[in-house]
Amino acid sequence: MDKKPFNAFEMAQKQFDGVADQLGLGSAVRELLRNPLREYHFLVPIRMDDGSYQVFKGFRVQHNDARGPCKGGIRFHPHETVDTVRALAMWMTWKCAVVDIPLGGGKGGVICDPHNLSDREQEAICRGWVRQVALNIGPVQDVPAPDVMTHGQHMIWMLDEFERLRGGRFPGFITGKPVGMGGSLGRTEATGSGVMYTVREAMKELGLDIARTTAAFQGFGNVAQYAVRLYRQYGGTAVCVACWDQKDQTSYTFRRGSGIDPDELMGITDKFGSIDKEKAGSLGYEVLPGEAWIEQDVDLLVPAALENQVTGTNAPKIHKRVKLIAEGANGPTTIEADKIIRGRGIFLIPDFLCNAGGVTCSYFEQVQSNTNHYWGLTEVLSQLDFKMTSGFKAVSELARKKNVYQRDAAYMIAISRVAEACRLRGWV
Ligand code: NAD
Repeated sequence: MDKKPFNAFEMAQKQFDGVADQLGLGSAVRELLRNPLREYHFLVPIRMDDGSYQVFKGFRVQHNDARGPCKGGIRFHPHETVDTVRALAMWMTWKCAVVDIPLGGGKGGVICDPHNLSDREQEAICRGWVRQVALNIGPVQDVPAPDVMTHGQHMIWMLDEFERLRGGRFPGFITGKPVGMGGSLGRTEATGSGVMYTVREAMKELGLDIARTTAAFQGFGNVAQYAVRLYRQYGGTAVCVACWDQKDQTSYTFRRGSGIDPDELMGITDKFGSIDKEKAGSLGYEVLPGEAWIEQDVDLLVPAALENQVTGTNAPKIHKRVKLIAEGANGPTTIEADKIIRGRGIFLIPDFLCNAGGVTCSYFEQVQSNTNHYWGLTEVLSQLDFKMTSGFKAVSELARKKNVYQRDAAYMIAISRVAEACRLRGWV
């Protein structure tokens, strides 16, 4: 067991410090970049459906906006902590920088469990969240988006509240909106597809024919569902996905050696990404313990659920056949696990590069919303592929040239870009 409780922000700072040393960053710029520029902590009081009142805790963290307005999702999660939000905000800064889009990093959250909230209660939380930070966010300051357990409907409630308060129509205030309401075609599949664009490129580098490879996924929410789909279109065989079971309060791995069918599984998955295990059993899936996904005899592992999933405890169980890990989730791998993965020579596509497809498409959505001109799906996906592929190639080239770990190479590019923006602005 890893002894200390996991703290995502400590991990994000440690990752940063390691690369700051390698880059020889000065003390002022270090201090600026290893902490958020601003953060807002507030309470959101709600009248519940039964007439009682409940108070929820909300956050918005703006890590850095030297390269452009902050950008980042809002999570609804019962175990949300401000340190997780800080880490995620910081990773957003690096994510936007590594794929070279003109945005900074932010993240928000509410400590709540949407499983136990009606739609009306969730709407009240969305509107209450916006009221608390309406003056500090907006199209030119900080642009929110969906994240774990939030989706397009939440974004529209938030947009509507913001527009009521500010008076006017500001579709560029928030992204992840439904298509037809200022949303971009391709946003739903953008993160999962972006994960697979980088996997496709990594496999080329590794000399693997993607159509002959197999993969195991953790998570079956927005990211994993579309990553599995595109992987199948490329000819790969996904043998399992793991997801959380709300009723049993544990996770399960759903495995079928001949390959899982994402469309079939989506038919028995709820809106939180939980698969019905009785129905899965009757469709011929083995239902295994949650951790089984990581031990599979496959070429590719895709953690696409939550942070802190590949740890010093389970990383030694990664099968010797695994050649590539693509981090669909944010912060899935701990520093101890990183050492093991690196030591074994497994090629890693780091989270803030691998899952940057979401924010890249959000940026396209912002551009479309601000200009009130909407693009076709082919244009969105080809620009997304171009951005992800260019980002991947730059990182991989630097890793080779400097003989450093992929994660360090990605950090070097991102941190250098943000540090340079701070320097040009005369901040440090
Ligand atoms: P989601 O809420 O749609 O799905 C999460 C999935 O993870 C669900 O299938 C859930 O059952 C599963 N899960 C949760 N806890 C688990 C556990 N302990 N073990 C196994 N499975 C578990 O979320 P998402 O949007 O797919 O996001 C997944 C990850 O990707 C998060 O780390 C998120 O921050 C990151 N991410 C998402 C986007 C995006 O556009 N959605 C963009 C970048 C990064």
